[in-house]
Amino acid sequence: MSGTAIILGSGTSNGVPTLGIEYPEEFLANPKNHRTRCSVLLQGPEGNVLVDCAPEMRIQMVRENILDIEAVLITHTHADHVMGMDDIRAFCLKYEKPIPVYTSPQYQEDIKRIFPYAFQQFPKGIWVPRMDLRDAPEWIEHGGMKIRTFWVEHGQIPCMGLRVNNFAYITDVSHIPADVMPLLEGLDVLVLDAVRLRPHPNHFHFEKSLEVAQEIGAKMTYFTHLCDDYDHDKTELTLPPQIRLAFDGLRIPL
Ligand SMILES: [Zn+2]
Repeated sequence: MSGTAIILGSGTSNGVPTLGIEYPEEFLANPKNHRTRCSVLLQGPEGNVLVDCAPEMRIQMVRENILDIEAVLITHTHADHVMGMDDIRAFCLKYEKPIPVYTSPQYQEDIKRIFPYAFQQFPKGIWVPRMDLRDAPEWIEHGGMKIRTFWVEHGQIPCMGLRVNNFAYITDVSHIPADVMPLLEGLDVLVLDAVRLRPHPNHFHFEKSLEVAQEIGAKMTYFTHLCDDYDHDKTELTLPPQIRLAFDGLRIPL
């Protein structure tokens, strides 16, 4: 079993550059400082699983030349993780069937509220996204991958984390419950929220992420969900070699 995780987006909820802010030319000149909203594509030996649907989902998929999706996982229903879900429509049209979407029951209700038309009837020939909403089990098998899901705390709400082989992805987290920690042993690569430099009530911030990354002890940790506090190259100069910043388009072997 093998595959690739593609970081489709590595930015915080605003994206980087953030609207309305003027940035130094040197900052903008580095493509790694251009961050779309957080999402990862798991490319398995037999198919692709999309984790979250950022507002830029269509642009991310075109950029990475991704032509197929077998299933979608939604970690939580904050706008930056679901607002691209309308574009699932293209794949429903391609396969002429609903796309399996795994998340918690409470987030399924949110999705029905945000995209009511996806669950309504229309005359033949009108195409809307069709989502086959499913409760996320502990193990999800798609694309020839076995994906272990778990839940972490994101402020007051849960956020889904996942592990495939020795790769784990934890976006939007303020606390990892003690019973999840054993699932993160023996990792080659961990992708972990590190939203900004100063503390945040709903996210790990830089210092906290460094501490947790050290505790988990993956061979390599990439920080994600990054705001414009991070100038990619300048920040990496200050980091230990086993900690790097994720960037849009980063590919990680599974
Ligand atoms: Zn969030």
